[in-house]
Amino acid sequence: MKIGCHVGMVGPEYYLGSVKEAISYGANTFMLYTGAPQNSFRTPLENLNIYEALDMMKKNNIDINNIVVHAPYLINLGNLDQEKSKNSYNMLLSEINRTLKMGCRYLVLHPGASMGYDREESLNQVAYYLNAAIEKYPGIIILIETMAGKGSELGINFNEINYIIQQIKHKECIGVCLDTCHINDAGYDLNKIDDVLNEFDNIIGLNYLYVCHINDSKNEKGAHKDRHENIGLGKIGFDNLINFIYNPRISDRIFILETPYVKENEKDKISYPPYKFEIEMILSKNNNLNLKEDIINYYKNDTH
Ligand code: FE
Ligand code: FE
Ligand code: ZN
Repeated sequence: MKIGCHVGMVGPEYYLGSVKEAISYGANTFMLYTGAPQNSFRTPLENLNIYEALDMMKKNNIDINNIVVHAPYLINLGNLDQEKSKNSYNMLLSEINRTLKMGCRYLVLHPGASMGYDREESLNQVAYYLNAAIEKYPGIIILIETMAGKGSELGINFNEINYIIQQIKHKECIGVCLDTCHINDAGYDLNKIDDVLNEFDNIIGLNYLYVCHINDSKNEKGAHKDRHENIGLGKIGFDNLINFIYNPRISDRIFILETPYVKENEKDKISYPPYKFEIEMILSKNNNLNLKEDIINYYKNDTH
């Protein structure tokens, strides 16, 4: 099983630190941003320790082909304000370049938002820019993420995602990242995994599914909220997430946790990563009913 989580990339070790973080959780893959997801400031590639990171992966049986980069949230290729979408496009090109230079091929991208403009036109523009970007960087595989349907988000059902994919010339350069929290919040019923996968397969095709974000959700199906919850503690529930991951039709995909850090008290500044424990839960298929306590106890007197 290919299972990992979102990891940080901060100085001084940057990419090398990301690999070490993933290893500390028992992950065999991971996802990272090439800089802060909310802004476009980027540390120069030569400072990221790329060579050392790749070497560390090799020594720890982490396959570089399974590493996923997530594009910054700022990118909105669907904004029909031409100046803004042009900026987004340039940002996307720079992210693709960084992704490839870091040895990775998968770039997860939020399809954007229509900002009140016509959705279809907005989706057409996303496809237009994706084609242009792929033309420049044919080595990339852009994975459009399924979205929860907050505000005017695009990609809130399989039809919208398929509508973009259909327009992409180089089909080998496009795919989907399915986020379990997002599709729950968008209205898909994760009590019925086979129905969801059938629908995905009929509309898009499961061959386009490369990566799954595994998150529980704080909200009920159809809430359009997008608030992630720790595994087993949300409205999707442990059994549904396990049934999803282990479904033989998709069990060879890359699974990435993006669940929230855990705090001892609501007001605490310090919070702890849940991933080591959540990965254990998924690999053992055992629900940990003391998840938060175990995380806090493990990290609190930090020697790890
Ligand atoms: Fe995302
Ligand atoms: Fe996600
Ligand atoms: Zn989300």
